[in-house]
Amino acid sequence: MKILVLNSGSATQKTSLYEIAAEPPADPRAPLWEGLIEWDASEAAIRTTGPAGVRLQDRVPISSRKQVTERLLGDLWSGSAPLLKDLAEIEIVGHRIVHGGEEYSEPAFVTSALKGVVRRMTEFAPLHNPAGLEGIEIIEQILGGVPQVAVFDTAFHRRLPEAAAVYPGPYEWLARGIRRYGFHGINHQYCAQRAARLLGKDLRSLKLVTCHLGNGCSLAAVREGHSVDTTMGFTPLEGLMMGTRSGSVDPGILTYLLRHDQLTAGQLDDLLVKKAGLAGISGISNDMRQILSAMNAGNPRAKLAFDIFIHRLTSFVGSMVAVLGGVDALVFTAGIGENSAEVRAATCANLEFLGARLDLSKNSRTSCDGDISVSESSIRILIVRANEDWAIACDCWRLARTRS
Ligand code: ADP
Repeated sequence: MKILVLNSGSATQKTSLYEIAAEPPADPRAPLWEGLIEWDASEAAIRTTGPAGVRLQDRVPISSRKQVTERLLGDLWSGSAPLLKDLAEIEIVGHRIVHGGEEYSEPAFVTSALKGVVRRMTEFAPLHNPAGLEGIEIIEQILGGVPQVAVFDTAFHRRLPEAAAVYPGPYEWLARGIRRYGFHGINHQYCAQRAARLLGKDLRSLKLVTCHLGNGCSLAAVREGHSVDTTMGFTPLEGLMMGTRSGSVDPGILTYLLRHDQLTAGQLDDLLVKKAGLAGISGISNDMRQILSAMNAGNPRAKLAFDIFIHRLTSFVGSMVAVLGGVDALVFTAGIGENSAEVRAATCANLEFLGARLDLSKNSRTSCDGDISVSESSIRILIVRANEDWAIACDCWRLARTRS
């Protein structure tokens, strides 16, 4: 079965083509083909790669997302070495949709009712949901009636216990949809399943803390395969310190700023979402690599940014472990989690009281999924490469089977 996966963001669109035959294999597979579109102010950069490497590299003037997507997908069935004979070979298309509201706790086939929910949830995910919806509609126009599946970032957290999901504000907030939704769920769920596979254990027997540390950062406490707590909430702003986002701050600061600086809601959003986090504290960058190199060159604000990042990470991991009542494994994933030996080492050093003992040589060398703890460690420490598109392809395969 050939499965196309669209991961549509506000300024980028990743697209992958997978082939899954009889059953999804136990370990993830590389896509047959991948495409990336990156929009800047005036142009869209397109790049595709296939089995033999780069196939297409182009910059096109800014036009509609549909035109650029058509150009990208055209690479699959045109050119000197087409990978598909025609469009009909694509049997199903999966989409990453950030917010599925209270309605969706599982991947689902796209229907007009589903599109209505995604549209309604745009209010809570203004950058991401419109891009996902546009992706669905573009595929409707290009590939006609091909079955489409939406896989939601909020779904994995949909069954958070009430005590973790409801804010201690006025009870009426809940009826207005003001509650904790959680995000990065596709990758948290994938990492939990992958951790069980790497450990050779049944997922239902494990207590895991998955640490998604990219530009956006969040943790999930996973018990018996379900998310029972997570650090992001109503929006992807709550919780850990991030690249440009503050994470949790005292809400009193916001009312103080509103009163004293007469800020508008937009200006406040801008401060918390774009001018805070690693970038806001360091004044250098949102990129952890640059923070580390400035810190190692003696820059005090870069060091403060790193220290706050680790302090908050430690403190939230502690909170997730307390909610779980113990932990079998800590999983590091996404750009920082997968690549920064310094962040993993500093965090695990703070968690030695739990019996966490990192193997420092594995920690500095690992380039693939694996266990980086010493055998005497009381908890396993794992790296799992984020692989949302593969997870979406597998969900499409499973849903398609329910139809046949
Ligand atoms: P996104 O959330 O946008 O998908 P990524 O998962 O790609 O982000 O993560 C981006 C972050 O990963 C950036 O802070 C970047 O600095 C960090 N990162 C990537 N490679 C490394 C590395 N080798 N060392 C430290 N941080 C890294």
